[in-house]
Amino acid sequence: MLLDTFGRQAVDLRVSLTDRCNLRCTYCMPEEGLQWLAKPELLTDEEIVRLVALAVRDLGVREVRFTGGEPLLRPGLVGIVAACAELAPRPELSLTTNGVGLARTATALKAAGLDRVNVSLDTLDPDTFHALTRRHRHQDVLDGLAAAEAAGLTPVKINTVLMRGTNDHEAADLLGWCLEHGYELRFIEQMPLDAQHGWDRSQMVTAEEILERLHTRFSLTPEPSGARGAAPAERWLVEGGPASVGVIASVTRPFCRACDRTRLTADGQIRNCLFATGETDLRTALRSGAADAELAELWRQAMWGKKAGAGIDDADFLQPERPMSAIGG
Ligand code: SAM
Ligand code: SF4
Repeated sequence: MLLDTFGRQAVDLRVSLTDRCNLRCTYCMPEEGLQWLAKPELLTDEEIVRLVALAVRDLGVREVRFTGGEPLLRPGLVGIVAACAELAPRPELSLTTNGVGLARTATALKAAGLDRVNVSLDTLDPDTFHALTRRHRHQDVLDGLAAAEAAGLTPVKINTVLMRGTNDHEAADLLGWCLEHGYELRFIEQMPLDAQHGWDRSQMVTAEEILERLHTRFSLTPEPSGARGAAPAERWLVEGGPASVGVIASVTRPFCRACDRTRLTADGQIRNCLFATGETDLRTALRSGAADAELAELWRQAMWGKKAGAGIDDADFLQPERPMSAIGG
């Protein structure tokens, strides 16, 4: 099992399939100038499947989420999903995507064994979408969402980051729209993980503000306590339920004590936390012919060293060198 010294067990594996992306969200990447990982540094499809298999078979991982960068840009994605769906015990398989290109791939992903998707959508307005992502792909995301629903990649969840002065006035509109379409909305507080290190706490839209904005139009009641488990989102029932809305308050109400995640980057590094400043290199070991037992031991050691918390509010907080797009969000 993947345990740490605080008694937590990691059962949820996030696998980054690429650091590249076809959008340039302002809270994630600069417009240009980001250095991509070179092809030889990336794990091959076979190497990824081997490490996921090890995690599932020998290390107690039960859920695998593919992310990036933009995971739909990975040519071998459908094959990777299919191979992971054949593992025993069969892990839950999900994907976090910006939705561009999902209209083309949703059916094949479902057939390969993908269970669910989280699609990032920050606005209902095409111009605001361009301001936030620097690309004109809003309709592609809406088409991707509809295709995911039609393919049965459900429940379709939507991730939204609110940026002050850009889309923060849309909180209630987004919730109304998601309720209409049957999508589950979760707001994420903006975190200091952008490549350009431009995060400013005073500019961040807090969970409290998000809830205030939602309350102007909706009646929200906290989901019964205990329902959250290790899930990072705190959830509220909308108008008494069953529909709900989530807020991931990674900065103002961190959930580190219940964290059950472990991360594999596209270049084969294990990270025990999004905010870890160190990594454990599995790729070199893998390519030097390490046996599964050795790789498993390296992975266990990596998780054993996990800190109690991300420490964003600590005076000595250091933003990790790698941005979210390279770690795997
Ligand atoms: N490209 C895919 C996407 O956008 O869904 C997957 C990778 S992206 C890094 C994963 C999630 O992280 C997205 O929902 C995105 O909105 C979120 N994200 C990116 N940068 C963030 C930041 N600085 N703070 C909070 N969330 C962020
Ligand atoms: Fe790309 Fe996702 Fe980052 Fe936006 S948040 S730039 S879609 S990786």
